[in-house]
Amino acid sequence: MTTAKTGNQNQTLESMKNFAEQYAQRTGTYFCSDTSVTAVVLEGLAKHKDQLGCPLCPCRHYEDKEAEVKNTFWNCPCVPMRERRECHCLLFLTPDHPFAGKEQSIEMDYINQVRDSMK
Ligand code: SF4
Repeated sequence: MTTAKTGNQNQTLESMKNFAEQYAQRTGTYFCSDTSVTAVVLEGLAKHKDQLGCPLCPCRHYEDKEAEVKNTFWNCPCVPMRERRECHCLLFLTPDHPFAGKEQSIEMDYINQVRDSMK
C-alpha cells in the first residue's frame, strides 16, 4: 500500500533514519530486537522535526512542546543519552541491554510498512 506522505515528510523520516544509524555506530549502541519499536520511534522523531523544527523525544508527554524544544534537554539525542547512553525510547541500546538487537541499520521500506500497518 502506498502512502500519501509528501516528499518533504519522507525526506525527514529518511534523514532521521540516517542520523540514528550513524549515531548508533558512533556510540556503540544497537537498535531494539523488536524492530517495530525502532520504526515507531523514528516516525515520532520525524513528526516532531516536521512540526517543531526539532526532533523532540517522542516518548514523553509535554505540556508545551515549543518550550521543550527551546529547553533542548529532550531534543534527540537527549542529555541522558549523550551523558550516560540512556535512551528510554529503546532506540539506542547498549549491547548488554536485554532488548538490544544486533542491528545498527534499518530499511526505509520496513519503516514505511510499520507506519502503514498502524493506520
Ligand atoms: S530517549 Fe533520548 S536518545 Fe532516545 S529517542 Fe528519546 S530523545 Fe532520542
